Amino acid sequence: MKQIIQQLKNSRSVLIASHINPDGDALGSLLALGLAMEALDIKATLYNESDIPAVYRFLPEIDRIQNQISRVHAYETAIILDCSNLDRIGRATDIVTQIPMVINIDHHTTNTRFGERHLIDNKACATVELVFRLLKEMAIPISTAMATSIYTGIVTDTGSFRFSNTNASAFAICNEMVQLGVKPIHIAQHLYGSYSLGRIKLLNQALESIEISNNGSLSLMTLTQKMLKETGTQPGDAEGLIHYARRIEDVKMAALIQEQANGRKYNAGEKNYHVSLRSDGSIDVAAIASTFGGGGHPSAAGFSIESTIKKIKETIKAIPELN
Ligand code: 5GP
Ligand code: MN
Repeated sequence: MKQIIQQLKNSRSVLIASHINPDGDALGSLLALGLAMEALDIKATLYNESDIPAVYRFLPEIDRIQNQISRVHAYETAIILDCSNLDRIGRATDIVTQIPMVINIDHHTTNTRFGERHLIDNKACATVELVFRLLKEMAIPISTAMATSIYTGIVTDTGSFRFSNTNASAFAICNEMVQLGVKPIHIAQHLYGSYSLGRIKLLNQALESIEISNNGSLSLMTLTQKMLKETGTQPGDAEGLIHYARRIEDVKMAALIQEQANGRKYNAGEKNYHVSLRSDGSIDVAAIASTFGGGGHPSAAGFSIESTIKKIKETIKAIPELN
């Protein structure tokens, strides 16, 4: 941490980025650290390749996040947040590899330890916990805007204090954020109480798609571009749907197979899919996702694959842990 602080203090211009299809932790850590850099008079470019999901647009200063960066800009330092491997940031990966100092701040068990400096702790409930520790170490005062981002990162990554990563720090930090002015009701309202009607209709279609197999231990949910189109929703509206598949009794692992939009043509009906995996704790889905080139946490992980829905389902049903 000391080396990271020294590096930041010596930088005039930093690039901060987090993973594609961002969740509350990816956006919360990006904003909290970005605002902190500003407090130190360090110029920070905040980058995320994907559209910001509607539920996170309430976050203060969210418009500071840009989805493009110029190749020519000379960044002295890059800070990569909530990414287990560098290419999780997407298209900007090759720009970042040219930046002389890459700082990797993350809490995934599958982190590949890319970059020159690491602040990696898989005991941290969220990447915002690590950002919080960094801000404390640097004695940067936490503004209400920063506190909102930190609180949101913890609430979303712990599934509102329900998942196995919920630790004492999750409560301690959130307590402090509330003392600093965060209103839990206000954030909960944005995150969970302002769904579009289309999102509820998408939920309906996703529930209809659930298939149970492997003696009840596996639950498969499917989401296609057609379903998004019919309900007028965006990929970010799919966040949280997989929990419905996971919470069915006796289910050990749930998989959400989500068709990606990218106009590319593939062989024999193949398309690009993102597969999200969740487990009840008895199966390490990070290890399973790693075998498909992805990663994540023991009970929440994912990977991308070019295939057909039918083949993906067969592959998942054949996973040894479920047989
Ligand atoms: P989700 O299924 O919600 O996309 O992601 C669950 C967890 O797995 C998150 O912590 C996410 O960062 C990680 N994850 C999802 N997809 C990938 C992937 O393709 N590669 C890696 N390394 N991690 C992923
Ligand atoms: Mn996270």
